[in-house]
Amino acid sequence: MNNSIKTVNPFNNKVIKEYQLHTSEDLTNILNTADKRFYEWRQTSIKQRCRLLLNLAQVMDDDTQELAELITQEMGKPITQSIAEIEKCITLCDFYATNADDFLADELIETEATESFISYDPLGTILAIMPWNYPFWQVMRFAIPTLTAGNTAILKHAGNVTGCGLAIEKLFEKAGYPKGCFSTILAGHDAVEKLISNDLIKAVTLTGSEKAGKKIAETAGRNLKKTVLELGGNNACIVLDDADLDKYMDTIVNARMQNAGQSCIAAKRFIVTEAIYEDFLKRFKEKVAELLHGDPMKEETTFGSLAKKDFADTLKKQIEDSVALGATVITGNNQNKSYFEPTILTNITKDMPVFKEETFGPIAPIMKVKNTKEAFKVASESRYGLGTMVFTKSIETAQDYISTIDDGSYFINELVKSDSRLPFGGTKASGYGRELSKEGIHEFVNKKTVFIN
Ligand code: NAP
Repeated sequence: MNNSIKTVNPFNNKVIKEYQLHTSEDLTNILNTADKRFYEWRQTSIKQRCRLLLNLAQVMDDDTQELAELITQEMGKPITQSIAEIEKCITLCDFYATNADDFLADELIETEATESFISYDPLGTILAIMPWNYPFWQVMRFAIPTLTAGNTAILKHAGNVTGCGLAIEKLFEKAGYPKGCFSTILAGHDAVEKLISNDLIKAVTLTGSEKAGKKIAETAGRNLKKTVLELGGNNACIVLDDADLDKYMDTIVNARMQNAGQSCIAAKRFIVTEAIYEDFLKRFKEKVAELLHGDPMKEETTFGSLAKKDFADTLKKQIEDSVALGATVITGNNQNKSYFEPTILTNITKDMPVFKEETFGPIAPIMKVKNTKEAFKVASESRYGLGTMVFTKSIETAQDYISTIDDGSYFINELVKSDSRLPFGGTKASGYGRELSKEGIHEFVNKKTVFIN
């Protein structure tokens, strides 16, 4: 088994750094420290934890450029988008620093008792397994509420963003969090499985693929541990006859092409009604042609590389198999190392891989449907349930269909996105549990009933 990880810049294919994995003795020490720290950390006041959140926001603000460059080097995202990712993490600190006190306050419930209430107690050390596509945001949206609730955390980050994982650990230290509140481990899958079975890990969260979700949930389930799973998505983007394309075309293209299409909440199936279809297709093509690929460290670059060159193999296969079933490639479908050209496909049917599977790259299958009713029917027939977006001038029509979509979110005239103030998560094969908002900080707490007679 490999006992080291090499990170590689996907834009130029150069090795950035090689890291030694932690030994099993190292992992035991990290786990013991996190557990020991928990019993002290849980005694600190919420006010003290919120003060540290503000420090964390400050250190991220001070180091924004450096942290953003690390993201861009490790996974190929354009620098402006990496900066935006760090800025979003800062707003998350501010959000919980302002609201955690309320979210975690005892909740009085009137019964025949003299007093009865729910108290929100931390659980202990929580293991987080995270992906590379938003290497700071995915981690922070778990860690910030979870630590603020009084837990400690251990992160196993995706191997290709190991530098980001270690930088996040340093940020917590720099902000003044006691050692062991947040630790990053460098470990392979087997070591992670063992860790989940260890009694000192109280719960597990994973953001990643469906395959990884099943594996982690299975191990956690065998050990009776709670999991939160943020998995893949195949979000529909419904465009109705009366959509305001002048206003929303940028949003719609961005919904698919942001992060070179490597986003769980990207629009992955475009379902467009007949009357607007030709106009939509023309405009979509024009907007996609404006995307500028190049050195992701340059500010003018708007479209990055895939995070790994090999990811293109899956995309090509999905396109090839769909073409065999009758799809037409309108534009794109070329690869140059880790750059995969934005690709538009038409003549789409429900059985095609580009439509029914998650495509984790810049592929836009555009399906023509007769009318609104058919659009929602097709949209709802998915194994995934992360989110749906609808573009129409008739808000009433879009509202009428809210209950027909069993997803974690439903956005009208906006792309599906995460927001600190709103719960985020999926249904069906997209996982379960919620992050962000009040719901997120309540995922890893013991909701304890207290009854005083
Ligand atoms: P992935 O292969 O599942 O990896 C995600 C993380 O899980 C990585 O840290 C990976 O480690 C680890 N992992 C995978 N299998 C494991 C196992 N058997 N034991 C322990 N750890 C394991 O996913 P990815 O390719 O990085 O990310 C893309 C997927 O994530 C897509 O499906 C995307 O939709 C989903 N995603 C979902 C959300 C959401 O919020 N719902 C957000 C972002 C991404 P290694 O790197 O060491 O393999």
